[in-house]
Amino acid sequence: MVNEQNLLKEWQERLGLQDWAITLRINCKKDDMDLEEVAGETEWSLSIKSASIKIISKEEYGERIVPYDFENILIHELLHLKFGLIDQKITSYESDVAYEVRHQLIDDLARALVMAKRGETKRKLSCQRVKDMRLED
Ligand SMILES: [Zn+2]
Repeated sequence: MVNEQNLLKEWQERLGLQDWAITLRINCKKDDMDLEEVAGETEWSLSIKSASIKIISKEEYGERIVPYDFENILIHELLHLKFGLIDQKITSYESDVAYEVRHQLIDDLARALVMAKRGETKRKLSCQRVKDMRLED
């Protein structure tokens, strides 16, 4: 049976993160998160290869442009560990831009990986939300 812990194991292996100690907290509420409007959050330590991942529940996620997909969120958070090597906490305009770019890359890669696993070629968006946004413009 596919459960969240099995998915973690599966993707740790695919991404070459088997030697990391990762704890996964699922069904989190918005209040459990340090940041607003996030689906998942990860704290990590590169030197001891340890991480703690929190993922919001489907109910708390609600209606967003991208439909809730646990596996996608999990891969996204795991990719943060891979990109952690080039993460730097410098405060400057350039580092803020680099952060956004890196985050977009992580999200594209997570989506591509999950689509590859499922044999999909088209990205899923919540059409109603996109239509609503277009009307607001
Ligand atoms: Zn992220």
